[in-house]
Amino acid sequence: MIYEWAVIGAGPAGIAAVGKLLDQGISSAEILWIDLAFKVGDFGARWANVPSNTKVDLFNRFLQTVKSFEYLSAEKNFPLYHAEKNKTCYLSLMVEPLQWVTNKLKEKVQTIEDQAETLTLNNRSWRIQLKKSECRAKNVILATGADPKNLAISTVPIIPLQDAMDAGRIKQHIQNSETIAVFGSSHSAILALRNLVENGAKRILNFYRSPLLYAIYLEDAILFDDTGLKGPTAEWAHDFIDGKLPASLERIYSTEENVEHYLPQCDKVVYAIGFERRQLPVVEGVGHLNYIEECGIIAPGLFGFGIAYPEAKENFIGRKEYRVGLWKFMDYLQRVLPIWLKYPA
Ligand SMILES: Cc1cc2nc3c(=O)[nH]c(=O)nc-3n(C[C@H](O)[C@H](O)[C@H](O)COP(=O)(O)OP(=O)(O)OC[C@H]3O[C@@H](n4cnc5c(N)ncnc54)[C@H](O)[C@@H]3O)c2cc1C
Repeated sequence: MIYEWAVIGAGPAGIAAVGKLLDQGISSAEILWIDLAFKVGDFGARWANVPSNTKVDLFNRFLQTVKSFEYLSAEKNFPLYHAEKNKTCYLSLMVEPLQWVTNKLKEKVQTIEDQAETLTLNNRSWRIQLKKSECRAKNVILATGADPKNLAISTVPIIPLQDAMDAGRIKQHIQNSETIAVFGSSHSAILALRNLVENGAKRILNFYRSPLLYAIYLEDAILFDDTGLKGPTAEWAHDFIDGKLPASLERIYSTEENVEHYLPQCDKVVYAIGFERRQLPVVEGVGHLNYIEECGIIAPGLFGFGIAYPEAKENFIGRKEYRVGLWKFMDYLQRVLPIWLKYPA
């Protein structure tokens, strides 16, 4: 059988894609959904204990805007229901509703729990080679997520970013007399710095490249909505990075000379310098999987979506930003799905 659509990945982006295809009237028998675990992706596995930079209201909009999610019929009394709409929250609050929606969608579409390894276009459909089997689809959405980037510049042991951003898990990495390096100055870096400071790390060196950037709330828009610091993370940065630097924290401009001088003094390092898309599945004949950043097209019938293939959009002062976040994924999908539906293999 050749499916009309295959969605690879069941993180928030894959969930949105399957839901929107159903809403668009694609028959559930024509949709194949592939993931290794169907446990809300990295959002569920790695980032649940991270404070969001999104307000609760936008999470609710994500859940309510797709009819096939049937979210309003959920009988469960999720804590997200009771969270203040205009406040940020821990991402964990969103994991449970997303798992509920995943289970609901799994009852509707065809699913395979496996890893997609290779995609090959032939006879106007995509052959998807999985670890344990293979299948075909006319259209494929890659919603396969991204891993934190590392710099291969030293042998200093790395603290995984998901541990550095988790106020509970960071403790196991902090030993009395150690010096810990943190590369970066965006949302993730600030969260890591805060966790290290508040959990008593003795000496922290923050390698940064640019001044902190804060979201600016105007009457009808947010400037630097995608790149600026927001919520409690912005408040902490104002008070302790641009304000009174904690005694344990040193900021170091990240030149080659400075890194060469200071990094060998460190016992551990956290890289909070962005994300890179996962390498699987390999798409034969499409090199590095470049995509059109304004609409997600990789090749005929092959589309990239989610944190691995974020929309690039100019903000209202003409600066290009990559849009990552659940509501941004949904808003983008609403605009690009009509294009994707007209561009099969
Ligand atoms: C620190 C941090 C804070 C964030 N804060 C917010 C926030 O406040 N608000 C917000 O809206 N967003 C936030 N995000 C952004 C975003 O929502 C998450 O990164 C989200 O997890 C991205 O969703 P995704 O579906 O693109 O990828 P993922 O969640 O990574 O899901 C990808 C899925 O694809 C599967 N997969 C990968 N490769 C294969 C393969 N070859 N075969 C089969 N399956 C495969 C994986 O197993 C996984 O299940 C944050 C992100 C980070 C990192």
